[in-house]
Amino acid sequence: MSAAPPANLVEAHAHVFALGQSLELTPLDRCATVAESLDAVRRASASSRPSSDGRAWVRLFGARVESWDQGRWPTLAELDAACAGACVVIMSFDYHCAMASSAAMAAAGVRAGVAVGTNGVVCTDAQGQATGVLLEDAAYAVWKAAPEPVESERERLVILALAHLRSLGFAEVHDLHSQAWLGPMLGRLDREGRLGMRVALYPNVAEVRAVAEHRQHWESTRVRLAGGKVFSDGTLSSRTALMIHRYAEPRPDMPRGHAMVAPVFIDEALRTVESLDLQLAVHAIGDGAVRMVLDSAQRVRPARGTLRIEHLEVLDAADVPRFVELGVTASVQPCHLLTDIEALRRYVPHRIERVLPLRSLLASGLEPGVIGTRRDGRAGLVFGSDAPIVRANPEDSIFAAVHRRRPGMPQDEAIAMKEALDEAAAWRCFARVCDETTDRR
Ligand SMILES: [Zn+2]
Repeated sequence: MSAAPPANLVEAHAHVFALGQSLELTPLDRCATVAESLDAVRRASASSRPSSDGRAWVRLFGARVESWDQGRWPTLAELDAACAGACVVIMSFDYHCAMASSAAMAAAGVRAGVAVGTNGVVCTDAQGQATGVLLEDAAYAVWKAAPEPVESERERLVILALAHLRSLGFAEVHDLHSQAWLGPMLGRLDREGRLGMRVALYPNVAEVRAVAEHRQHWESTRVRLAGGKVFSDGTLSSRTALMIHRYAEPRPDMPRGHAMVAPVFIDEALRTVESLDLQLAVHAIGDGAVRMVLDSAQRVRPARGTLRIEHLEVLDAADVPRFVELGVTASVQPCHLLTDIEALRRYVPHRIERVLPLRSLLASGLEPGVIGTRRDGRAGLVFGSDAPIVRANPEDSIFAAVHRRRPGMPQDEAIAMKEALDEAAAWRCFARVCDETTDRR
């Protein structure tokens, strides 16, 4: 890295509480063998404490099973022997697959032959017995079966996350999909002088009206309710992001991915936040989802600065100028490119030149580092990480924006190099805290 990172960065897309939790989970990203994974399970189980449900829950994450010596998960018998009856869940690095101990599956009510959610799969052996390997909703059902931490524990994890972000140079974080309890807790931490940075909250749009009713009890110049959050599609690696064109290797049930909400739902969400003088942040990864959201903005015509679109990993050329036209901020996490390269080449090879068109977005007039507001009506291009899906280190996004490939990869494997930014421009997209964009009340 040559350009020095500026001070007072803004992390425009993170999940604060989940980040705090992830900082305490056992990472398996350096694990290279099945035996090492079992050793990690043994150590973590031995030091675990019972949760509020009386069970010992042990969660490990970041497993890249394809790269382990035997290219497989442990067997269920191996895992159960290593964890001595604890509820163990090992999540894969992409959060789409997990392995759980017998105790964890039993506690979550997950077993062979029982459907889980809309796409959960409980993998079985030739005899029809569960192997412990779980896909999609089944993986999440067991991952989330561990009881929520009690209030004091939640506070400790939130403080841990904020300290971590501060250590990386961030002076402000935007929390996308905030828990209802987060605002009151942050407000109290601020009054006690223990906050240390600014936080903007975006709870689910279904809850935003209720959260807004009590915001005067906890808002300050540092903690504020900023808007509501909506998920409009899925992800590229699971081929559930909504695309304009069919995926290569499409899922039979959804060849172009799928919309998680109807356009009229987004219209209504825009009107709801508008009535509360707040913003709407919409998760839209595929070019079809981004277009659907921009179409909503064109119909509803909220004040400029009302809408921000999150992720926009693939964007059609015709939609690039619409951000400036409609006053919509593009909130992008270039670091996702680092983990998605293989999935992009495999599933959307015909759209590879449309991946993260950062240079085109800036050329269209979006202002780097400006999170537009309803007050200023500006529209910007801002970076974040989506931590803890990936680590919060801003240098990952800078590398991805500049080099468009993972460190060490040959240059000809870069994705859509013509959309690369220079390093100084990339750093400018990590919005800097300044009073005119953050001191709104
Ligand atoms: Zn996110």
